Amino acid sequence: MDIYSTLTRSKENFETINENRVNLFVCGPTVYDDAHIGHGRTYISFDTIKRYLEYKGYAVFYIQNVTDVDDKIINRSKESGIPANVLARKFEKRYREDMEKLNVTGVNLFARATDHMPEIIDQIQRLIDKGFAYETEDGVYFEIDTFEEFGKLSNRNVEELESHREIAETTKKNQQDFALWKKREGVNEPVWPSPWGDGRPGWHIEDTAITEYYFGEQYDVHGGGLDLIFPHHEAEITQMEAVSGKSPMVRYWLHTGFLNVNGEKMSKSLHNFITIRELLESYEPDTFRFFVLSTHYRSPIDFSKDSLHQSEKSLDRIRKFYELLDVEVTEDINSDYEVLAKWSKEFFDSMDDDFNTPKAIAALFGLINDSKNELDNLSAEDKIAIKAFLDDASHILGVNFELEEVNAGSDDLLEVISEVRSELRANKQYDLSDKIRDDLQSLGYEIND
Ligand code: AMP
Repeated sequence: MDIYSTLTRSKENFETINENRVNLFVCGPTVYDDAHIGHGRTYISFDTIKRYLEYKGYAVFYIQNVTDVDDKIINRSKESGIPANVLARKFEKRYREDMEKLNVTGVNLFARATDHMPEIIDQIQRLIDKGFAYETEDGVYFEIDTFEEFGKLSNRNVEELESHREIAETTKKNQQDFALWKKREGVNEPVWPSPWGDGRPGWHIEDTAITEYYFGEQYDVHGGGLDLIFPHHEAEITQMEAVSGKSPMVRYWLHTGFLNVNGEKMSKSLHNFITIRELLESYEPDTFRFFVLSTHYRSPIDFSKDSLHQSEKSLDRIRKFYELLDVEVTEDINSDYEVLAKWSKEFFDSMDDDFNTPKAIAALFGLINDSKNELDNLSAEDKIAIKAFLDDASHILGVNFELEEVNAGSDDLLEVISEVRSELRANKQYDLSDKIRDDLQSLGYEIND
C-alpha cells in the first residue's frame, strides 16, 4: 500500500513502527460553534482511511484532540454569557452527534486539551530545561532559532511566521517565536496554575503533549486539513522533535483538500458555511458521505447542490443494483466470475494507491455496467460473491448500499403521519392538517387529498 506524505511530497510504501499497529492522530475541532460541512469532509476522509487500514488487518488506534480552551471559545463565551467550559462541552457534544450521523465512528479517543494540562505543562518545562524555550513576563515561548529544521514540512521559512496570528505578543526575543504558555493573571478567563503562573496553553502544544502521552515520541500517521500544515503542524514537529531529539516525529503526514464554495474555502470567518445539521435537514447523511468520497481526499471539492444531487443519483444506482442481488451472503464463497475479479481488484488497487476513493467508486460502476445485463444468467455463487464484495465496499466507504433499510423507516413514518392527518381532517381540524401538509411539503413531500 502506498501513501502520500506531505513531509516527503511523494507516495511511500506504508510501513508501521510496530507491526500491525497504526497509531493515528488527527487534529480535532475547536468547539465554539457547530461543525460545518468542510469539517465533515475532512473527518469523513480520515474515517474512511481508518476503515480501510482496519480492513487491511491493522489494529488502528485513532485519537482526535478536542480544543476546548482557545481565544475563539473565550470570545464566544464573553459574547453569549455562557461560561467557556459549558459552551465547549455543548459544542463538543453536538460535534460528536453530527459525526455519528455521518457514520464517522472510528475515533477511539477524544482527548480534550483541558484534561491534559499536566502533560502540557510537563512538555513545556522540558523544552525550557533543554534550552529550546524561555519565559518572559507574558508567557513562555519556543525559540525558533534553536531548531534548525523548522520548515521541513511546509517548505516555508521562519519569517513567514511573523505574519501569523500568534505574534500579538511583544515580549518575545524574536517575532517568529511562538507561544507555549500564555500568562493570564487576574483576568476573567479560564486559567490553570503552572510554574509560570496562571494561564493557558498556546495553540500548538496540546497536540504534541497528547500524542507523546498516548503514542510516545514517534508514531505512524498524523492528519488534518491543508490549512494546518503551516504553522500548526510545523510547530508540532518543532516542539516534539526538539524535546525528544528524535526524528521523524511522524512517519506519514496526510492532509485533506478544502471543501470550497465558489472557489473559496468554506469557513466560519468567510460566512460561507453550511453546518452539517443544516445539510442533513435536506439530505441523507450517506449522500453527503458518498459525495465527499467521490473526490480524492487530497483534492479540493467544489460544493454545490447540483453535484450533491448527482451523488444522490449515483448512490441510488448502486443501491438498485444491490437490490437485484436476491441472495444471502454465506461464509464460503466460491466464484471465479471474471468481471467481479477484474473490478474488485481495481477497487482494492485504487484504495491501496493513497486511498483513491473516486477510482474505487468508479470500479463499482464498472462492475455494475459489466454485470447488470448478465445477472439472470449468473450462478447463485457468483451473485453471492458480488454481494459480499459490495458489502465490503460499503463497509470501507461507510455508506449503506441497502435500499430498504434506508427508506423503510421514513415510509412507515409517512404512513403514520398520513393516517393522523386523515383523522384530523375527518374531525374538521383543518388548521392542524394543513400545517402538517405544508410542513411535509417544505421537506419535499407532496400530499394530494
Ligand atoms: P478547525 O476547527 O477550524 O480547526 O477545523 C478542524 C479541521 O477541519 C481541520 O483539520 C481543518 O483543516 C478542517 N477544515 C476546516 N475547514 C475545512 C474546509 N472548508 N474543508 C476541509 N477541511 C476543513
